[in-house]
Amino acid sequence: MVSQGKPKNQDEVQVLVDKILKWRITFKHKRDNVLRKLKSDGFAGDLAKIFTFSHLKNKYPDFCPQYPKDETCHPIMEKDLNCYHCACPHYDLEDSPYEEGNRLFIGRCMIQSKKHKYVEHKGIHSRKQELYILSCEDCLIPHTLSFVQQMDKP
Ligand code: SF4
Repeated sequence: MVSQGKPKNQDEVQVLVDKILKWRITFKHKRDNVLRKLKSDGFAGDLAKIFTFSHLKNKYPDFCPQYPKDETCHPIMEKDLNCYHCACPHYDLEDSPYEEGNRLFIGRCMIQSKKHKYVEHKGIHSRKQELYILSCEDCLIPHTLSFVQQMDKP
């Protein structure tokens, strides 16, 4: 997709973008806290392996609201879902929101994963434009152990 520029009068949409940004920052802080704790406990194994859904939900049940529900947020088994990159490094908010025709978009997949998609957001009624948000729910790229080990050695 090619951006056709920033829209004017974007207050409510900007609040939404800021919320997503804040969530990403909060997640990274939580992840850093787990890493610090592991290091201060003298853990010397593969840190990436600690971040599987099944391991983390037992060791750090407060890390994610999905853990107490025993529900993965992607179509993959608990033991194979790695939560280290819950906030995917390929999710770009740099120029969000951006306009294409008379539609507004939030988020870009920097690698154009085949599984990326946009979901219409109907919560903002003060704008006439339709608003779409990048959804990663079908994409498993950042959630495999090999991705975490290659992309970002914790
Ligand atoms: S679609 Fe996949 S690779 Fe792209 S930003 Fe979302 S999770 Fe990351």
